[in-house]
Amino acid sequence: MSHATSATPGRVVLDWRHAAIGPLAPCVLCGKPAICRSPAKGVPCHKGCAEAWITVRARDAKTRARLIAYCTPKGPGGAP
Ligand SMILES: [Zn+2]
Repeated sequence: MSHATSATPGRVVLDWRHAAIGPLAPCVLCGKPAICRSPAKGVPCHKGCAEAWITVRARDAKTRARLIAYCTPKGPGGAP
């Protein structure tokens, strides 16, 4: 018998294949240079930092799913 939810505890993995990039700028989370831009706010942010940020804040599966959706870029023509 398996769990009903698709969300598994542990590491969050974001799909940033469609995330925007820009010039090197300090990551808002760790302060080190980053070219990735947060899909949620457009600020410089590492994918790994965003994943860690979600992992810390997601206290339950529902919150986790919402944060992952919030931080996942919408692909061109793609509909999540
Ligand atoms: Zn970072």
